[in-house]
Order: sequence, then C-alpha cells, then structure tokens
Amino acid sequence: MVTAPDLYALQETDQALDKARGRLAEIEAQLGESQEMILAREVAQEKRAGVDQLRSHLSEAEDSVEDIRTKAASVEGKLYGGTVTSPKELSDLSDDLKSLRHLVATREDTLLGLLVEIEDADAQLAAAQAEYADIESTWKQQQEDLLNEKAQLEPQIASLQARRDAQSSSVDRGSLRLYELLRERHGGYAVARVERGMCQGCRITLPMSLLQKVRSGVGLVQCVSCERILLVG
Ligand SMILES: [Zn+2]
Repeated sequence: MVTAPDLYALQETDQALDKARGRLAEIEAQLGESQEMILAREVAQEKRAGVDQLRSHLSEAEDSVEDIRTKAASVEGKLYGGTVTSPKELSDLSDDLKSLRHLVATREDTLLGLLVEIEDADAQLAAAQAEYADIESTWKQQQEDLLNEKAQLEPQIASLQARRDAQSSSVDRGSLRLYELLRERHGGYAVARVERGMCQGCRITLPMSLLQKVRSGVGLVQCVSCERILLVG
C-alpha cells in the first residue's frame, strides 16, 4: 500500500529530475556560437574587406600617378629636347605638360586622401578584431564551464532516473496515475504538507475530519480544495 510519505519522496526525486533536466536543456541551448560572437566576427570581416578594398584602390591610384608622371616626363623631354622647333607644336606640348602636371597633382591628392582613409580603416579593423577576440575568449570560457556542468549533470540525471524508477515501481498503478495527474495540474507539486491544519499547497484550512484521516496514515487523502495528496509532519 503506497503512503503519502512514499509519494512525497517520489515527488522530491521528480522535482530534482525536473530541475536537472531543465538546467540541461538551458545548457544545451547555450552550447554553440553566440549571436554576439557571430556578429562581432562579421563586423571584423567587413572591416577587413574594407581595408583590403582601400589598399587595392591605393595601389591602382599609385600606378595611375606613375603612368601620368612617365607621360609628363616624356612630354617634358620633347618640349626641352630641342628636336621640336615648331612654335605651334611647342605650344601644344607645353599645354599637354601643364595639364598632365595638373592631373598628377589631382591624383596625388586622391592618394593622400586614400592614405588617410586607410589609416582610419586600419584603426577600426584593429578595434573590431580586439573586440572579437575579447568576446571569443569569454565565450570559450563559458562554453567550457557549460560543458563541465553538463558532464556533471548527465550522471546526476541518470542516477535520479534510476531512483525514480525504483521508487515508482512500488507504487500501485492507480496511485501513480493520480500522482502524475496532480503533478501535471499543479506544476510538479502533487503532494502537499499539512501545517497547523492548513494545506500548504493552497493554504486552505482543512476540516478536522479530513485532518484525522490524514493523521491516521491509512490510504491517500486529498485536499478538499486543490486535490493535492496530503502529508502530515
Ligand atoms: Zn490544498
């Protein structure tokens, strides 16, 4: 014959199991990469791509300045080389040289602008990488802690489950069904203690006749209000 203390002991095991399983589910949800880390890595990758693009623009701009300088040098050579004597040609060459020099100056300004931009982008990249490294190291530590906790929880759950199986095997089918139904209905709390004549599940003051029945310890007695199985002492 199952008694209220038997079911109370089973309830304690079930509550410990619920808690351990709930924690395990929380841990499992937290294992793997965090959104924060994925986001920080994406930011660092974007900054890296930005720097690479600027460097490639810089290299193109340098080549372009070099090209124009070479052209200007060639025009200058012709202008002052003495081989060209026609005033019209000389005047054209002079105009060409002027516009090429102007172009060099403009392109050099672009170069300088790019250098400033690269310096700024490099600093942003370094900051983003540092932030990512920081988040990643915290994350690694958390993952390690979670895995350690999981490794401790799993055998705990197995031993609680074994205890639960042993405890429930001695409970008759009808009482077990009642217990499980009440646990489901009352958030895992099927057996309530009686203190100072009150059901601790719903705080109602129990009728004297019911209290006497509970105290007799014969059979399972349920609260008249919340229907939980009552336990004295
Ligand atoms: Zn009650």
